[in-house]
Amino acid sequence: MMHPFIIPVREVRVGNADLGTVGFGGAHPFAVISGPCSVESAESIVTIAQAVRTAGAVMLRGGAYKPRTRAGSFQGLGQKALDYLLEAKRLTGLPVVTEVIEIAQIDAIARVADLIQIGARNMYNYPLLREVGKLGLPVLLKRGLSATIDEWIGSYEYIGHDRVIFCERGVRGFDPSTRNLLDLTSVPIVQKRTGLPVIVDPSHGTGRRDLVAPLTFAAEAVGANGVMIEAHVCPDDSISDADQTISIEQLEQIIHHIRR
Ligand code: PEP
Ligand code: MN
Repeated sequence: MMHPFIIPVREVRVGNADLGTVGFGGAHPFAVISGPCSVESAESIVTIAQAVRTAGAVMLRGGAYKPRTRAGSFQGLGQKALDYLLEAKRLTGLPVVTEVIEIAQIDAIARVADLIQIGARNMYNYPLLREVGKLGLPVLLKRGLSATIDEWIGSYEYIGHDRVIFCERGVRGFDPSTRNLLDLTSVPIVQKRTGLPVIVDPSHGTGRRDLVAPLTFAAEAVGANGVMIEAHVCPDDSISDADQTISIEQLEQIIHHIRR
């Protein structure tokens, strides 16, 4: 609920007239984006999309091109995943966010994505930021792996327009208890400095399923404009990031608690 300590930010609208739009910031409520880490098959992305929509999510996530630490790990289904995301969007009406990792993919991604994700590993990829910015589509700009807030805002300037939503996803910390150190102080700082919405990714931010709910509530308390949560109908079977992926039941409980 709005209290005088929450920093007001401008609205960024995502989506289109046909399918409807979702707003971040402005007077919009705390938004929950959810879906699997990676798009795994046509059936699973449609099933998960329907499930997260029923649970109350307003937008679908799912990686088609995955920037994996190890070259031998699953790299995403690529163009096939984009086709499956389009079908999931058509069937559920949920706008889609998916990551672009190379300039050559931009046009294909833009045919599907309502919000184009720049991942942590590409936050410093200035040529990619410039090219993505030329589309004028809304951009979800994740914080770099150990980026300062100044560097993160610098990357936003490369995009060259204001349809940008920042995403705090933790920075490299010193403590192996969590995957990253989720820095919630960045939320009001970036909101104040840019006047733009900031959402939080408690999944990559902690790397732990059991911490997704508490850090979502913390994000809301600090005034974030939403969260992006990895969820799956069968979390343990997730091809990537199973440890941090929550079930649909957990997602539903989290959203229910937020709406109260
Ligand atoms: C993701 O959200 O799919 C992802 C790869 O996250 P990050 O770039 O924050 O590591
Ligand atoms: Mn992931």
